[in-house]
Amino acid sequence: MPKVDPSNPDFRRAPLFQECFPSSTKEYKEVVHQPTGSVLRVPFRRIHLTDGTFYDAYDTSGPQGHPPKEGIPKIRADWVARREARGDTNQTQMTYARQGIITEEMLFAATREGVDPELVRSELARGRAIVPANKRHIEMEPVVVGRLFRTKLNANTGNSALGSSIEEEVEKMQWAVMWGSDTLMDLSTGKNIHETREFVIRNSPVPIGTVPIYQALEKVYGKVEDLSWDLFKETLVEQAEQGVDYFTIHAGLLLHMVPYTINRLTGIVSRGGSIHAKWCLSHHQENFAYTHWEEILDICAKYDVGLSIGDGLRPGSQHDACDKAQFAELKVQGDLTRRAWAKGVQVMNEGPGHVPIHRIPENVTKQLEWCDEAPFYTLGPVVTDIAPGYDHITSAIGATTIGALGTALLCYVTPKEHLGLPNRDDVKAGVIVYKIACHAADLAKGIAGAMDWDDAMSKARFEFRWEDQFNLSLDPVTARSMHDETLPGPSLKVAHFCSMCGPKFCAMKVTQELRELAKQQLEAGIPLPTPEENGVKTNGNGQGGKDVEDLIHTGMAAKSAQFKAVMNIAPAESEVGGGVYVNVQH
Ligand code: SF4
Repeated sequence: MPKVDPSNPDFRRAPLFQECFPSSTKEYKEVVHQPTGSVLRVPFRRIHLTDGTFYDAYDTSGPQGHPPKEGIPKIRADWVARREARGDTNQTQMTYARQGIITEEMLFAATREGVDPELVRSELARGRAIVPANKRHIEMEPVVVGRLFRTKLNANTGNSALGSSIEEEVEKMQWAVMWGSDTLMDLSTGKNIHETREFVIRNSPVPIGTVPIYQALEKVYGKVEDLSWDLFKETLVEQAEQGVDYFTIHAGLLLHMVPYTINRLTGIVSRGGSIHAKWCLSHHQENFAYTHWEEILDICAKYDVGLSIGDGLRPGSQHDACDKAQFAELKVQGDLTRRAWAKGVQVMNEGPGHVPIHRIPENVTKQLEWCDEAPFYTLGPVVTDIAPGYDHITSAIGATTIGALGTALLCYVTPKEHLGLPNRDDVKAGVIVYKIACHAADLAKGIAGAMDWDDAMSKARFEFRWEDQFNLSLDPVTARSMHDETLPGPSLKVAHFCSMCGPKFCAMKVTQELRELAKQQLEAGIPLPTPEENGVKTNGNGQGGKDVEDLIHTGMAAKSAQFKAVMNIAPAESEVGGGVYVNVQH
């Protein structure tokens, strides 16, 4: 399988769009950026339905069919070249937004979001949204992350000292964006970090984030004490040059906060946080990321690298949630956010971690207040610690809750969380579960058009359009295979039931029959009986009278007999329940 030579990886065939989304086509909406005349081609996925209609879904899958060694098309090349030619000194999206300029990136993101580009611009200028867009990641399809927009999802990938290769990491990225990941963090800590990241960025249609301290630590062979600001700075520049769109930097973790974690059940669980804390303690010096924050901002401003200010002291258990250490760091995150904005650097704030559901709202309230409504970016949170193997679910429950409260970016968790390095299938499971969380949050937030997808699915479900149900689902292949398990074959893809309740217990089928019956009666001029005609005594205002219960019983029995007669169910059969079961041939 994977070759050892990092400069010449042996890639497997990428998953095909058509295989993942049968009956979908990749389409583009063309929109002209008036100030420059650039024609932007904004992707979406059209799901074709059997009733002749279609549903258009947000699409993150990126350009298809490009060999990984060549990379995907560089759609931002001209946009960035124009700014360079003009000699723009600060090319951050926030800076342009504050100047009243709607960039190509803003227009692109607004178009795929279905909102006014001016809303994207004003939210960027305010710092309440970001469009991560390193000027060196010219392959990227811009996306806006902010509380007024669709809730976005981030997938973490990356190798470790114990596993994975460049091929597998590129494959995981392709798999993540195919299923709907809006951003991706390459958290590699193993071999060939630079080369792995290069292949990932050149093939990624979504913004790429990193935690640069991981690579810095690799450069000193894992010896935390040997880390230095100079080495860290060199790593930031190296990654910015490659095109990393946002850095997670744990600059809010300060020396005096480390003792706050002494009585925790699970101490410091953030990898980056533990590295910075150990360095602070071993040198008895303040965190170099904090003391050199202005220099970090200058690097970020030069390339337009967004900052995802890390939560190095996030709780790693329900027990430690919302403690002094966590909130002390969050307050510093707020100070760092304002300083970044002063230089036009785009910012997100990272948040927990592990939090019981009832304490999620206070996390959002504090972040909004202390960090001036910068986009919140949370890992889950996991809402119970007792389900290893299912933490994509325990965390998606928390993610849905915190997303509904306006958290802009939800970092997925895979089933392997707390257990091992995720593989391609784990990545897919994490992405799908988090797509559910994001969409549920969008319904709760009242995002325009979000309910349309649910309505399309519900209509297909009620009309027993099974093919459309599969194709409208987040994971059509799995939905179809589950139906196939008990009802395979084309003829059963139009059946008016499934194997859950069977043909006679299918509530939707019975409802359709009831509707048909009511329609027939109305067409025949038979009016619906009044409650009194139906054996129900009322007190004149529609409320039940004294003998109501008995009379309801009598009335229901009468209606039942009427129904059975219409449905041709023999009395003897119906009394023993035969009317709702189908005869089974043994
Ligand atoms: S049989 Fe039951 S689960 Fe299946 S479609 Fe009908 S109501 Fe739904």
